[in-house]
Amino acid sequence: MKTFNVPEFYRSPIISAVKSFRKVQDPRKKDNSPTVLDFGPVKYYIARHFGFCYGVENAIEIAFKALDENPGKRIFLLSQMIHNPEVNKDLTERGVLFLQDTHGEQLISFDTLTPDDIVIIPAFGAPLNILELLEKKGIQTEKYNTTCPFVERVWKKSEQIGKTNHTIIIHGKYNHEETRSTFSRSSLHSKAVVLRDLEEAKTLASFILDSKSQQEFEKAFAGKFSEGFDIKKDFEKVGVINQTTMLASETEEIANYFKSVMEQKFGGSEIKNHFADTHDTLC
Ligand code: SF4
Repeated sequence: MKTFNVPEFYRSPIISAVKSFRKVQDPRKKDNSPTVLDFGPVKYYIARHFGFCYGVENAIEIAFKALDENPGKRIFLLSQMIHNPEVNKDLTERGVLFLQDTHGEQLISFDTLTPDDIVIIPAFGAPLNILELLEKKGIQTEKYNTTCPFVERVWKKSEQIGKTNHTIIIHGKYNHEETRSTFSRSSLHSKAVVLRDLEEAKTLASFILDSKSQQEFEKAFAGKFSEGFDIKKDFEKVGVINQTTMLASETEEIANYFKSVMEQKFGGSEIKNHFADTHDTLC
């Protein structure tokens, strides 16, 4: 796998060694047990999944490239590049300014931007309407776009299954940057709805199985479904994708749950026509 040029002070030699060791032992990340560092009287339990992932290292490398290549220019981050306070604080101290907070609230008006400014797109990506707005202002959004390729893989899958009329169920936090970005793309090709966890999945299932009304759906999922969503028409075919920072095992559980709901509705022999397999998008 590609390696990135990340400043040494962001790395911990101990954690890098732990991660390399686990990668060799468990390349497919199936084993969620912690790593135990046993110092005799003291034992440290190191969580299986933490530290910088591929997308974060990619984003840090591109952000530092933007700083190196543009001395004297105003450099903005659309929002937090990654949710790591240390990295974001460090970038702020180097003069990088944030245009929005993590929920999409404006911190600096887009009106102040000029074509001379640099805007870094975060690892989570950006909603299409925002990219369009920046491009209209003459900003080259592709130049320092740190969107993780694995997030783009989720977008491709949503486009693919959306074109075959699957409604996209997004497991994520509806106001998170990545979910807003994914939602904006999913809604282009199909209907989309966002849910947070298995409990909300169960609420959604009650609409799939016809036991509740459109009005109740609109109340339960207010602000979390695409325009024109019709529960009578839009639950014939579904597929589940996720905000990649959600636990993959939780998304898998939710996807399996919806598979069983669709089997209940259409019968096991018909499942291939009503449920899309998306597990290859899990990061
Ligand atoms: S998809 Fe998200 S979690 Fe996975 S490598 Fe990219 S940024 Fe990290």
